[in-house]
Amino acid sequence: MSADDDAIGADGYVRLRCYVPLRDTTFFSLFCSEPRGCGRVASSSTGRAISLMGEDGNRTTEEFAARLRCAACGNRRIDVRVSIDPRTHETRRREGLLSEVCDEDPASASSSLSEP
Ligand SMILES: [Zn+2]
Repeated sequence: MSADDDAIGADGYVRLRCYVPLRDTTFFSLFCSEPRGCGRVASSSTGRAISLMGEDGNRTTEEFAARLRCAACGNRRIDVRVSIDPRTHETRRREGLLSEVCDEDPASASSSLSEP
């Protein structure tokens, strides 16, 4: 089985490790979603998502979403969306990761993670 054949998890979502080659330009936006969410938005770098979900990165974006809980309202329906850093290569190299990606611990979108 090639890496591509195995890029999608059993739940139909992409495995987190597939984003590792894109980690300098891609991050995850975490939305506390409707109908009961408060609309809070947080961000997570690819590396943080993987360290939270197991270093092999075989968990999917949907499994990542299922582990999160909104720190503001306790909602467990968190949408994970792939976001692209819009800055130029030069700016990224000078400033590093987007500040909100660095500062926002995904665990703060999920202050009380429950272990599976
Ligand atoms: Zn919320």
